[in-house]
This record gives sequence, structure tokens and C-alpha cells, in this order.
Amino acid sequence: MKTDIEISQESKLKPIQSIASKLSIPESKVNPYGKYMAKVSSDTPDQDTKKKLILVTAINPTPAGEGKSTVLIGLGDALNQLNKKVAIALREPSMGPVMGMKGGAAGGGFAQVEPMVNINLNFTGDIHALTSANNTLAALIDNSIYQGNKLNLDPRKIQWHRAMDVNDRELRNMVIGLGGSKSGVPREEHFEITAASELMAILCLSTDLNDLKYRIKNILIGYTYENKPVFVSDLGAESALTIILKDAINPNLVQTLEHTPAFIHGGPFANLAMGCNSVQATNTAMKVADYTLTEAGFGSDLGGEKFMDLVSPHLNVDPSVVVVVASIRALKFNGGLAKSELSSPDVDALKKGVKNLDHHIRAMKSFNKPVIVAINQFNDDSREEIQWLNRHLEDLGVEHGISKSFIAGGKGSIDLAQKLIKLVDNDDSLKRVYSNEDNLTDKINKVAKKIYGAGDVALSSKAKGQLKEIQKNGWDKLPICISKTQYSLSDDPKKLGDPSGFTLHITELLPKLGAGYIVAMAGKVITMPGLPKHPAAIGMDIDKNEKITGLF
Ligand code: ADP
Repeated sequence: MKTDIEISQESKLKPIQSIASKLSIPESKVNPYGKYMAKVSSDTPDQDTKKKLILVTAINPTPAGEGKSTVLIGLGDALNQLNKKVAIALREPSMGPVMGMKGGAAGGGFAQVEPMVNINLNFTGDIHALTSANNTLAALIDNSIYQGNKLNLDPRKIQWHRAMDVNDRELRNMVIGLGGSKSGVPREEHFEITAASELMAILCLSTDLNDLKYRIKNILIGYTYENKPVFVSDLGAESALTIILKDAINPNLVQTLEHTPAFIHGGPFANLAMGCNSVQATNTAMKVADYTLTEAGFGSDLGGEKFMDLVSPHLNVDPSVVVVVASIRALKFNGGLAKSELSSPDVDALKKGVKNLDHHIRAMKSFNKPVIVAINQFNDDSREEIQWLNRHLEDLGVEHGISKSFIAGGKGSIDLAQKLIKLVDNDDSLKRVYSNEDNLTDKINKVAKKIYGAGDVALSSKAKGQLKEIQKNGWDKLPICISKTQYSLSDDPKKLGDPSGFTLHITELLPKLGAGYIVAMAGKVITMPGLPKHPAAIGMDIDKNEKITGLF
């Protein structure tokens, strides 16, 4: 089979205006970026659609591959083939990881969004705009300290960090402001990758430009020498930062290989933030499509829970149904096989590993929404394994179907899409895991126990101290965003399958007041990734006709 990039290079795309008109988006609301990409104004008129929202999430990711985006795009194409008015809403990839690990984040095989090279690289510049706004704020903070420190900021307690969309471990910890009294005030600094920044989360949660400005105004930038919180509003920088982001807030419209409209906007990492595309993209898609498919990565424990508890309160509609994506390979990996052993049939390993899928099904069902499992079929899945998994899901009484969209595009998911359509009309109301009135430790306990299967939660002494500060400042009614490894339901990436009864260790509690939640760090999560030994960037090429090789 051809590679993703070969399939992409052979595709014939339609002009972006024709994709917009498929959804009856008025021309005046479409701002093209070249021929195949456009920004759509978020005030595009509501077409009085059915507004059925389908959330696609997955089991814990493994090196074996699950293919959440591929399945979602395939389902979108299948609904399109069934003549449904459908739109896809997905996250935009961060370029740092693209230069590190080979593989993009725009689907795969015959289920891709296009133009995939642009989407994976600079796209419409939203991530660059976020990086600029983020670093403008950092420069304004340091300038304020340098120019007499009117805000009395303690340089040891600055909470705002510089950001870049590059995997660069050298920038994790550093001292800035060296070079004498004319070059700033020396202090410790830490870069984050832009996708992990609070500003990315803010952009994704903002419902309009006013909300964006309001959230930016509330960002906690640090503390004074007397430990009083200092906000962007004290600096007066909210308007300038909002101006930098005025275009970035509008969702980007592209298309799949089969010309299904796709809004790709915002890309907060799911191990640190929500792992979902922007509220703007999902709300805009729902205004113009009957069926909107959106994604929550990595697994249901991270993105899935956060979608329900943190993102959906800002959407016009709650999701109607949840799709949980799994692959037989990934389940066998969860069952203890090494990556090199996954190609041979092994029903015993599948039986062991399926516990991970069962857990994610239970977790998503606890939100009181119907769940359907999408099995992403890979080339070496044996008939025996597929039959066993089908029987297992029948015994559990959970709806399921196979996605063959990687090799067959939309027609590979028609059966799955038909099953999905039957589930969307339920009117079960969403049951969130916690209420904002719960105190902060109760919220963490509820997510840890109900969603992850933890037996207990332990706060480090640092986290206990931070909890007291949070309570003192009256921030403990905010929702919680747990930052945890994506590889396990626990905080230990090596515990695969369904490791119930573990203790979840909370190392830090970080107020993200612009985003409007408290981040609870569970275990070690890195906010600035590094490059691997053999970075994907080495081995890429482009010829004079802009034909790229080695990228995907
Ligand atoms: P996720 O959204 O879960 O990160 P993606 O859909 O982006 O996963 O897929 C990850 C990678 O796996 C992509 O490179 C894609 O081409 C590949 N992939 C997905 N589904 C299949 C499949 N059924 N067979 C082979 N490769 C696949």
C-alpha cells in the first residue's frame, strides 16, 4: 500500500469555497488561505441543524497504534457517503513532534485530512501566533521587573513561561537575563512547547473574542514578595495579546480526501491540557452540520474525561454518543506482547489486553451516554482475533463495528456509521464526574477513582502547600485538569491493561486561571519534549517542485 504522503500527493482537492458551500457557509464568512484552506468567522449563521455531536476517543495509546483520527475521518467520510450533512472537528498537529517521530497527525491511509503537509507544518499560523503572544507576555513581565518592578513581582515566583513549537530539551531549565545590568534581571526560566501552554488551552476554550480577552486578563503571571497573586490585568497586557490572536481564534476549514468538510483548530496536549480541538471549531461545525465528529485524545481517561467535564460546559450541545477506538494490535500490547510480536495471532494476549478496552467503555458509560466501539482493522489482524473480540463485545452488550477506512476510506466505515446513526437520537442527559461545588481534593478523588480506577490519591507535601494557597485565594471551586501519562490508566506508564486499585500521586497543583482550571500534576509529565536519537527531521527532502519525501 502507498504511504500516507503518496496518497496525499495523488489526491485531487476541491477549492475551499466549494467545501464551505457544502455546509451553506456564506462566502462573506470564509477567508481563504490559499486554495484549500480557509478561516471561517465564528459568527457564521446557524443553519438550524440537528446538532448531533459525536465524541471519538480511545483506549490508552501504545506504540502499536490505535488510529483515532483515522477512524474519525473514515466515519466522517462514511456519513458523507450516506448523504448526511457532516463536519469533522479535529486538533491541529504541533510541529515539534512532527520533526521528532515519523508520522503526522492528520489521519492515515485513505482517511486523511488535506492538505496534510500544510496541516502538519505551519498551517494557517495559529500556533505561531500563540507562540508570539505567549512570548510577548513573557517579555512584558521581565520588562516590568527590569523597569523598576512596579508590580513588586518576585522573580523566583513567576508562573508564566516562554514557549516554542519545537521539541528542544535544552530549553527546559535555564537562567535568563545574564549579561550585566543592561540585559535584564537574572532569573530561572523554563520553556514549554506551545501546545502545552496555557494560552493554547485558553484559545481552545474561548467562546468569542471577548471571552478570549477576559481569560487572558485572568492569567496568573506570578506572586509578589508578599505572596499576593499578580495577573495579566495588573500588567494591562490583555488587549495587546488578544489582538495578536484575533485571527487565530477563528477555526480553519479544510477537507478530507473524500471532500468531507473538516474544521481543524487548536491542539492542546491531552496529557497536560484538554486534548480536544477548540470550542469555536466544534460550535461552528454544529451550526452548519447535522452530525459533528470531534476527537478527545489520547485515551478516554485523559481527553475523554476532560471533554465531558471541562470542554462540554462551553459547547452549545453535549455529545450524544461516544466512540471508543481500539485496535487488536494495541490490545495485544496491553496484554503483554512486545511490539515485534504483534503481527502473529495471539487470542490469549488479546483476552488479557481487552481489560483496557473494557475499562474505557465503563468509564465513558459512566457519563450516561451510549458507547460504540470502533475496531480499527490492521492488515495482520487474524479472523480468529476479530471473531473473539466481536463476541466479547456482544457479551458485554456494547455496540461495535469495524473500521476499514485506512484501506478503503469512507466505504470502509459504512456499517459502523449506520450503527452510530441509530445511537445519536438518545436524549440521555450528561452526568459529569464531579460538580464544581465539590472541593478540589474531592474532584481529584472522583476522577481518579471513577475514571482511572485508582484506589487512593496521595498529595505530595508541595501539593498540600499549594492546596492551602489555592483555598486561601478562593480558587478551589474551579474544575480540575489532571496531567498524567497517556500510556496507563495510572500515573505509571509501565502499568498497562487495567491496573485498578493503585494510588494516584499528585505532585503539584498549578492554578491556570485564564484557562479556568487547576492543573493537578500526577507523576512526571514533561512540558517540553525532546527529540529522539534518530529525529524524523533527518532524512526529509524537498525538490524544486516542492515534492516532499521522508516526512510521513
Ligand atoms: P491517533 O489519532 O490515535 O494518534 P492516527 O489516526 O493519527 O492515530 O494514526 C496513527 C498512525 O497509524 C498514522 O500514521 C496512520 O497512518 C496509522 N494507522 C492508523 N490506522 C491504521 C491501520 N488500520 N492500518 C495501518 N496503519 C494505520
